[in-house]
Amino acid sequence: MLKTLKNLAGYYKPYKRLFFSDMFFAILGAAITLVIPLIVRYITSNIVNLPVDMATGMIVKLGIFMILLVLIEAFCNFYIAYYGHIMGARIERDMRNEIFGHYQKLSFAFYDNQKVGHLLSRITADLFDISELLHHGPEDLVISIIKFLGAFIILMLVNVRLAMAAFLFVPFLILYAVVFNGKMKTAFRENRASLSGIRVVKSFANEKQEMEKFRKGNERFVDSKKLSYKYMGGYNSGMGAFTTLITISVLLAGAFFLTRGEMPVEDLVTALLYINNLTDPVKKLITFTEQFQNGYSGYSRFLEIMAVAPDIKDKEDAKELTDVKGEIDFENVSFAYEGNKEKVLSHVNLQVKAGEYIALVGSSGAGKTTLCSLIPRFYDVTGGRVLLDGEDIRNLKLQSLRNHIGIVQQDVYLFAGTVMENIRYGKPEASDEEVIRAAKAANAHEFIMELENGYDTDIGQRGVKLSGGQKQRLSIARVFLKNPPILIFDEATSALDNESEKIVQKSLEELAKNRTTFVIAHRLSTIRKAQRILVLTEEGIAEEGTHEELMKKDGIYSSLYKMSFA
Ligand code: ADP
Ligand code: MG
Repeated sequence: MLKTLKNLAGYYKPYKRLFFSDMFFAILGAAITLVIPLIVRYITSNIVNLPVDMATGMIVKLGIFMILLVLIEAFCNFYIAYYGHIMGARIERDMRNEIFGHYQKLSFAFYDNQKVGHLLSRITADLFDISELLHHGPEDLVISIIKFLGAFIILMLVNVRLAMAAFLFVPFLILYAVVFNGKMKTAFRENRASLSGIRVVKSFANEKQEMEKFRKGNERFVDSKKLSYKYMGGYNSGMGAFTTLITISVLLAGAFFLTRGEMPVEDLVTALLYINNLTDPVKKLITFTEQFQNGYSGYSRFLEIMAVAPDIKDKEDAKELTDVKGEIDFENVSFAYEGNKEKVLSHVNLQVKAGEYIALVGSSGAGKTTLCSLIPRFYDVTGGRVLLDGEDIRNLKLQSLRNHIGIVQQDVYLFAGTVMENIRYGKPEASDEEVIRAAKAANAHEFIMELENGYDTDIGQRGVKLSGGQKQRLSIARVFLKNPPILIFDEATSALDNESEKIVQKSLEELAKNRTTFVIAHRLSTIRKAQRILVLTEEGIAEEGTHEELMKKDGIYSSLYKMSFA
């Protein structure tokens, strides 16, 4: 745990100045809160004994001084709210870049690795929790400790007996806050869980049985809401009551000692003014522990992803890709999956011209996906070579190779986040305008604008549900944004109904213009326009040609084609 925290602290490094100025203003603000009651005490104890003229002068001076302090305190609060959040956002950006960089090196973009996919879909929410902890954590901790200890020490110095009266109820306040806050959080969590349960049912809610399920789920939702509001009410009212109780305790004790002439009145005034400095830090610390738990577990997941080692690494002298034309040659390529003796591809030869539109067909398991996955080097060939513009792709920097390849698959990963963030995933540094342009190119702009909050609509895990075709268009927008010269569509429209397939197909064709494109299609109707169709079988490329040529040949393709329309 200590090591993890030390790692986490490393993220402050580029923002040292911002961090320390944030802390400085946090401490200054807390100090001012502690000083103001002392000035009030000074006024009540000393000024009343001065002649009226002098007293008025003093009151004016001290009044101006206090207004000044209040202004400074307001500035401190503004500074930590504004610059603290900026620092948090920057750290979040750094971590996101790190994740994206790492993602590029991993191959799970193509082959769904359940665990990593799940971790990845959580990461946006996690990064937010982490950055919240990083910028609020230290500041909340420091402010609370200074306020609480400061108030405690000052009270003890001012009047030990009143301090005791004030502290009498503090332990109960803490105990109450911890217990109720815990219950409240659990109830809210259960409520969210029941809500996401309803969403799943809702999408099928047309049959009677489903309607009944839906109704029950909806009742459970209300029940869990009731409970969470009960605890929330209990927490808020209880905390209020304890604060008043402390005030009453101080007042009664004060009255007791005052009437006996054992204490001056300014002691009572001072003690009353410090009560909030005792109770506020308790609330703040409760929030802090929560933030800490969320941020810490978020960071653990972040580390888990970062720990997934890339299976393929750069050569020492790997080259950066520039000016890619998009010519791809498979030279006598063979490939077998690790641990499997049997080759999936054996001596495949294929020359693809820059900008060519190539379709791959063949029965399931023939090796279409495998063939395409060799291009971004998700796997390395076991024999022969794959060349890009005449260069063996193993001599290229992996990240730069993958930056030039866009992939659209059947499954689309959506993050918990907004539409904007989900598209920007194609190019993290893209501006809002670029994202919107990409969405327009992908025929996604219109449906996005019809969503509740347009580009700011939350989608993914708990957000709005999108249809398969809509998700697919978002993933196409990602690729438009990335603007790569080489494309791979692996059964991109297989899961769609005919209607949305047509729309998505149009977007894909738009995207494919002037790019080297490999299309793996389940439905043969979508590939008739391909410049070249390859029929892949266990023996390798069995047939090759345009739709017309292959139909004339009356071989595998033509029988597959006829079958798909039977
Ligand atoms: P297609 O895309 O044409 O349906 P694939 O390229 O997915 O075919 O699969 C070709 C062959 O390789 C199949 O026999 C499949 O079982 C095997 N295969 C695919 N992925 C893996 C993998 N990750 N590990 C081992 N074998 C695999
Ligand atoms: Mg496949």
